[in-house]
Amino acid sequence: MARPTADRRTDLVSLYNALGPEHRCPLAPTRTRVVFGSGNADADLMFVGEAPGASEDREGLPFVGRAGKLLDQLLREIGLDRGQTFVANVLKCRPPGNRDPRPEEIEECSPHLFRQIELIEPRVICTLGNFSTKLLSGSPEGISKVHGRPQRREIGGRTVILYPLFHPAAALRTPAVLALLRGDFAGLPDLLSREGATRDGGEAEEAPPLAPGLREAGEPIEPVPSRGGVEDPRLPQDTQLGLFGSQG
Ligand code: URA
Repeated sequence: MARPTADRRTDLVSLYNALGPEHRCPLAPTRTRVVFGSGNADADLMFVGEAPGASEDREGLPFVGRAGKLLDQLLREIGLDRGQTFVANVLKCRPPGNRDPRPEEIEECSPHLFRQIELIEPRVICTLGNFSTKLLSGSPEGISKVHGRPQRREIGGRTVILYPLFHPAAALRTPAVLALLRGDFAGLPDLLSREGATRDGGEAEEAPPLAPGLREAGEPIEPVPSRGGVEDPRLPQDTQLGLFGSQG
């Protein structure tokens, strides 16, 4: 059963404050701001990207650059908006020059992401690109192979549907990838509206072998009751606007 909304919200704010602007990590010397993630703490749908880019590093919010605009547009096309989702990244700090995250950085930073998932309790997590897909699926299979195929996973002690998608930045570079991403987005409303089902009516796919630390889902997906909005506990010093807004 989902935790009370107010608890979720309070715990998420505590995590945000614990990470804080002074957060020390190997990327601290080169980043401008920690990008915690933003959106609705009660979201059924979560997106997980790779790492902040230059715009995100400047603004302290995820997916606010060109890739973020495309994400917004694709959401609009299926009748959703960012306010119904929570958006985060594997890394909370920008790697210099937007280089790929290093294994030791992922290892150091990923507990924050797992804790966010545990607190938000999304029903569906869309991983964007290879890094978040491999981390959350626990499988080395790349995005070209697994995109658009829902997988059941147990993350944060709950069963979630993982729905790997191409990264919007890759779609901006390659029109064929954009077409695939758009096609996969089209399957999202159906996925959100059904428990444990794929858009073609079958069970979510059997997942490939898991990495240590992740457990196989053994139970059917629990219905999550709809959640009302609650008072925003955002602290006055929180300048990363867009965090924890209430749903609808
Ligand atoms: N790319 C990402 O993976 N994350 C962002 O927040 C922005 C671009």
